[in-house]
Amino acid sequence: MPQPNADSLRFPPPRLPKETESLRAEVRAFLTDSFADEAWQRNSDFGAGFSPEFTRKLAAKGWIGMTWPKKYGGQERSMLERYIVTEELLAAGAPVFAHWIADRQSGPLLLRFGSEAQCEAILPPITAGECYFSIGMSEPDSGSDLASVRTRAERTPEGWRLNGAKVWTSNAHLNHFMITLCRTGDAGADRHGGLSQFLIDLKKDDVTINPIINMLGGHEFNEVVFDEVEIPEDRLIGNEGDGWRQVTSELAYERSGPERFLSNFHIFRALTDAVGTSPDARQAEGLGRLASRLWTLRCMSLSVAAMLEAGESPEVEAAIIKELGNRFEREVVETARTILPLQPTGPAGSNQSDFAAIMAEAVLRLPSFTLRGGTTEIMRSIIARGLGLR
Ligand SMILES: Cc1cc2nc3c(=O)[nH]c(=O)nc-3n(C[C@H](O)[C@H](O)[C@H](O)COP(=O)(O)OP(=O)(O)OC[C@H]3O[C@@H](n4cnc5c(N)ncnc54)[C@H](O)[C@@H]3O)c2cc1C
Repeated sequence: MPQPNADSLRFPPPRLPKETESLRAEVRAFLTDSFADEAWQRNSDFGAGFSPEFTRKLAAKGWIGMTWPKKYGGQERSMLERYIVTEELLAAGAPVFAHWIADRQSGPLLLRFGSEAQCEAILPPITAGECYFSIGMSEPDSGSDLASVRTRAERTPEGWRLNGAKVWTSNAHLNHFMITLCRTGDAGADRHGGLSQFLIDLKKDDVTINPIINMLGGHEFNEVVFDEVEIPEDRLIGNEGDGWRQVTSELAYERSGPERFLSNFHIFRALTDAVGTSPDARQAEGLGRLASRLWTLRCMSLSVAAMLEAGESPEVEAAIIKELGNRFEREVVETARTILPLQPTGPAGSNQSDFAAIMAEAVLRLPSFTLRGGTTEIMRSIIARGLGLR
């Protein structure tokens, strides 16, 4: 019977550098002004608000690609400083989704594996808030088992020819580029060989983008179809056949951020506002429980940011936070339903009415949290493997 080995798991408490205090104050002031100027809606999910205008303003502050080299438009600031900006944006429910994927994972992937020409062409427009990315991993028969992707890229004299389809591709109809995982050769014994990543120009390449309407009736998802799509040689990212190693590192960026427990922070905030300053015993118990979980998750998540800063790849720690974070997000919604009698038809503009509207959206978005970025079951498998149990 294998015994769990937790020795390698650590969540060392991070010490936030002094400069983060003024940065946090600056971000808060920016958000207050921007909210007052544009009256954007506070979102109950980071994936809900797509605003190129907001993204460009954020870029003008130097807060997109802020850890990247200055020669690509970055600011060469630390991962912990980026964390401060990210958590303030999430806590405010700001409309961040236009630049989110490019800033979080596509840019860092290109910095790590892309060619100099790709970095020079793509990273400056991202840091200017003008270039947005989609993730091209999932396929109709390939989600959790990503190594089973069947979209194929074959060499041609001029470059590559792609055939296949990607699915659940968030905002492919709005974004400029997609990084897509394709089969380029034999899978090998471990099934991880023969995969490669390509840069797809969603505006210019001959792909077909079909909308998929979600439970809220909104168009966020798409199917992206490749039917004999020709792309030039220089769209290969990194080395042919290295796709699995590259996509695994991309997933570490995707899973490790505070959006895995703060994506519906706005509901927690709205819940505390709706309860007011004189909670009854049940409300106080519910809010206290949520606050203690939130604080623990934040400490763990900050320690992951510090590990990323140190150049480590905390894959298992990130999976633990995603698993616990998704549970916390569910608990926020469930606690709200339990401790607050909702009046969906309350007077317009009243706290109760606003809160009921937020909750209605939250309940419909909730099931997606445990799927996107890897399902809860997959996170648990990664954790078990990390403990030496599988
Ligand atoms: C809001 C949202 C946005 C998304 N955006 C994108 C995007 O932009 N680009 C993109 O590529 N994808 C995107 N996805 C897709 C997402 O990555 C997949 O839904 C996810 O990886 C799961 O794959 P699947 O849906 O095919 O489910 P499946 O893999 O078929 O899983 C179905 C069920 O079986 C369980 N299961 C599967 N394998 C195992 C196993 N080995 N052990 C135990 N349980 C298992 C799963 O946990 C799940 O409960 C998005 C999803 C959502 C919800």
